[in-house]
Amino acid sequence: VSGRLRGAEVLIRWRKPDGSTVSPAAFIPLAESSGIILDMTRALMRRVCKEIGPAFDARPHLKICFNLAARHFQDDGIVRDIRAIFGNGPVRLSQVVLELTERQPLENLAETRQLIATLQELGVRMAIDDVGTGHSGLSHILKLGVDIIKIDKMFIDAIGIDRSSTAIIETLVDLAHNMRMDIVAEGVETFEQVVCLRDRGIRAAQGFVFAPALPGSSFLQLIE
Ligand code: MN
Repeated sequence: VSGRLRGAEVLIRWRKPDGSTVSPAAFIPLAESSGIILDMTRALMRRVCKEIGPAFDARPHLKICFNLAARHFQDDGIVRDIRAIFGNGPVRLSQVVLELTERQPLENLAETRQLIATLQELGVRMAIDDVGTGHSGLSHILKLGVDIIKIDKMFIDAIGIDRSSTAIIETLVDLAHNMRMDIVAEGVETFEQVVCLRDRGIRAAQGFVFAPALPGSSFLQLIE
């Protein structure tokens, strides 16, 4: 809303030797079902840390968001990884946001909740991603004790088209306010959407209207 850059969400891209790219939709589900996602996330975090480390060390207000899968909540490996990778800078634990998607059902709610609490004690913030798309319902989300809810792009796309979508956004804003959670709009593409979200009290958003997905080096230029 202020036009200030708050940070970035890390997205993965697979570029083949011939320069073509493989869509994440084509390999992420396989990475999750095979368990390779755990190694991938760890490697991605290390690489991002190296790439943005100096820039983030100098700008403590910036946040970096990583997507986690249900797999990451099967044991406490994620806690060890986060501590090992971000425990000694240059990217601080307070600059890390971990996103858990609502798209896939969580296997063990009690265990997940405990892991989320442990991660929050380390100083990272937890977000629930793609809110409004899952099968879990709001009470399920609230039980997780997350800090941030991210409104799915589907509702943002429908602004100005489908009145019920705006009503859902307003409900989520109220909910976040009452639960003292922050709220972020995902997939914002037009200025009209920015205005609508701002009018409804949303203070943070991401999407093409601000910047497309960028390689690390271009993101660093944007920060500069
Ligand atoms: Mn996400």
